[in-house]
Amino acid sequence: MSEPVYDIAVVGSGFAGSLLAMIARRLGRSVILLEKGKHPRFAIGESSTPLSNLLLEDLTTRYDLPRLKPLTKWGRWQRAYPEVGCGLKRGFTFYHHELGEAETNDSDRTRQLLVAASPHDEIADTHWYRADFDHFLVLEAQAAGVCYLDEVGLHAASESEEEIRIDGTRNSAKLTVRAKFVVDATGPRGFLHRALSLRGRPLPGFPHTQALFSHFSGVRRLDEPQAQPFPVNAAAVHHVFDGGWVWVLQFNNGITSAGTAVTDRMAERLKLADGAPAWDRVLELIPVLKKQFAAARLERPFIHVPRLSFRSGCIAGKRWALLPSAAGFVDPLLSTGFPLTLLGISRLAEIIGTDSFGAGLSAYSAQTDSDLLAAARLIGALYKSMANFPLFVSISLLYFAAVSFAEMARRLGKSRLAGSFLLHDHPLFGPQCKALLDSILRAESLDSQDLTERILRIIEPFNVAGLGDPARRNWYPVEAEDLYRGASKLEATPDEISAYLATAMPGSYFQAV
Ligand SMILES: Cc1cc2nc3c(=O)[nH]c(=O)nc-3n(C[C@H](O)[C@H](O)[C@H](O)COP(=O)(O)OP(=O)(O)OC[C@H]3O[C@@H](n4cnc5c(N)ncnc54)[C@H](O)[C@@H]3O)c2cc1C
Repeated sequence: MSEPVYDIAVVGSGFAGSLLAMIARRLGRSVILLEKGKHPRFAIGESSTPLSNLLLEDLTTRYDLPRLKPLTKWGRWQRAYPEVGCGLKRGFTFYHHELGEAETNDSDRTRQLLVAASPHDEIADTHWYRADFDHFLVLEAQAAGVCYLDEVGLHAASESEEEIRIDGTRNSAKLTVRAKFVVDATGPRGFLHRALSLRGRPLPGFPHTQALFSHFSGVRRLDEPQAQPFPVNAAAVHHVFDGGWVWVLQFNNGITSAGTAVTDRMAERLKLADGAPAWDRVLELIPVLKKQFAAARLERPFIHVPRLSFRSGCIAGKRWALLPSAAGFVDPLLSTGFPLTLLGISRLAEIIGTDSFGAGLSAYSAQTDSDLLAAARLIGALYKSMANFPLFVSISLLYFAAVSFAEMARRLGKSRLAGSFLLHDHPLFGPQCKALLDSILRAESLDSQDLTERILRIIEPFNVAGLGDPARRNWYPVEAEDLYRGASKLEATPDEISAYLATAMPGSYFQAV
């Protein structure tokens, strides 16, 4: 008996594969989802952002997935699914360190940057505890009618005019899956990359980096300074130093995710491939982390990734497409993985909803690649400025200005103002930002003062968060007043801002300024 031909085969059941599979079912397609492992399982990539949550929420509405909607904000997640682990993320916290230097007082806040992403816990973002989160989604996909096969070993893919065929094994028996279209959701250097012998491509100007990470229990909380814009532990905490950075993300189940991403040069100095001893060397060099991890227990073995960034030379064919998470990866800095992946899911869903894929897929490839390059330019420039924290802060304002503008535009129903990731194809912001970042990536030496002035000029027409105001001294809470001041940049009336604030910050006092 010959195998059925599915409309869509999705390979990889991380959050992205399961979500896309569910959406394809909602679009009336027959779908098979193939996974090499078995849920629940560990996965890295945990910290969401306002843009990720807005994109996810939009998908839940557009494709009638109401059971996923609570996962888009901390408060409703806690009420609906307290058993699905997650962490509270109120914003981005950065601390700068000189490696090996004793902890110093930073009362003038020149070695820190705190940018709030939400005004209170109820609507805050989250860190997804992926073992629980991805397990939940794969069960939802099955409930939506997706045929799910785990523990598969796939080794080949071949295309013909009518279909694409995947060969492998399951439970020691031969497995053949036939589909009209395959979506690869297996991550960088994943299934189709190997099966179709796709080539990689460099990310121009981006340094070679490596990562080392694990999960811990017994990690202390950092001291909370007075009157900060949000509790510093309820955030994606970044410890930046010349040559790399460390992340610390705390979940509500006692687990902490921590790891480091560093240049090859720093990886060599730390002997990163050693795993646990290398992590101990990192802690020795950053006293505040040594204190925080003094009583920490390792919950699983360290993972060392010897080459972190990746860019596929080809993103889609006639009968297949790589999700953005399989097409490329830059770095965990700024949590760009989820929004890029969700943007790609949204674009692919529209293509799957039509009957002709061709033109849509070439636009999808181009958008996916240019989003990735925009992220790589920005994060590459941030790597280049890690020794110079004031400049690092200024460059990061490009990110915060672009995303806060895009997020508010979406919330106000004006997403046309901010179509692309990091506004990279905005006619004003895009070329100016690219020219500046390219000049940083090429420069032998960097003039912080001049670059900072240029950055402030670039972000001004998009700045709806008071960014760069010296009076704030690197602490940026969410302020209603900033939104009123930025209303015209968003082509919004004060009444529209008030209407948004009435839902986002109910009970708070605000008025047009
Ligand atoms: C160190 C690190 C930290 C990160 N931190 C963040 C962050 O904080 N925020 C953020 O937004 N992004 C982050 N990212 C990026 C993030 O991990 C990805 O965007 C996200 O995981 C993509 O989800 P996914 O479901 O596409 O892929 P994955 O989560 O990688 O899932 C892939 C699935 O495919 C399965 N699979 C793999 N190969 C095969 C095969 N041959 N056959 C069948 N199944 C297969 C795997 O078992 C897995 O279940 C980080 C990435 C790294 C490397």
